[in-house]
Amino acid sequence: MKYAVTTFGNPVLRKKAVEIKAVTQDIKDLAASMLETMYAEQGLGLAAEQVGRTEAICVVDVPPDCQGAEFVELNAPVKMPLVLLNPVVSDPEGSLRRKEGCLSFPDLYAEVTRPRSCTVAYMGLDGRHYEARVHGMLARAVQHEVDHLNGVLLVDKMSPTQKALSAGKLRRIKKETLEDSNQARA
Ligand SMILES: [Zn+2]
Repeated sequence: MKYAVTTFGNPVLRKKAVEIKAVTQDIKDLAASMLETMYAEQGLGLAAEQVGRTEAICVVDVPPDCQGAEFVELNAPVKMPLVLLNPVVSDPEGSLRRKEGCLSFPDLYAEVTRPRSCTVAYMGLDGRHYEARVHGMLARAVQHEVDHLNGVLLVDKMSPTQKALSAGKLRRIKKETLEDSNQARA
């Protein structure tokens, strides 16, 4: 099932996700629907809050040609798509400043500095514990989605200047979110 993606202004995006204790059929269905939604919207990742849910789950799929040429080999051991349950990011290394977008902020991009590499520990859909070292755009996408699970959004990563320059766009997105009755019900 494809979800409508929640956009900035929807209060669910500020919710902190709740730990998943067991991989139920409901969680498996949610993961499948989130992947379907991410691919349909051509996103590189999607977090539960973006489909109106609050379980600690996100999905990520960054194809090699989007990872940054110097990172493709480093990321090769990571099988995609990633379905991350209760993900925790650690061991940040280096820093990269890149343009970043978000399905919950249509047509808005911001330069965001993040660690170039990090480790993500998570539970898989098989209930087992995993760890992956991720780099470049893949590391960025993982960190972005884990931010979502903590209620942290792209707008929070923008400098005061960037925010001022994007004020009009941010207002428009918020207004459209409030006008959308489907989202009011989400
Ligand atoms: Zn996002």
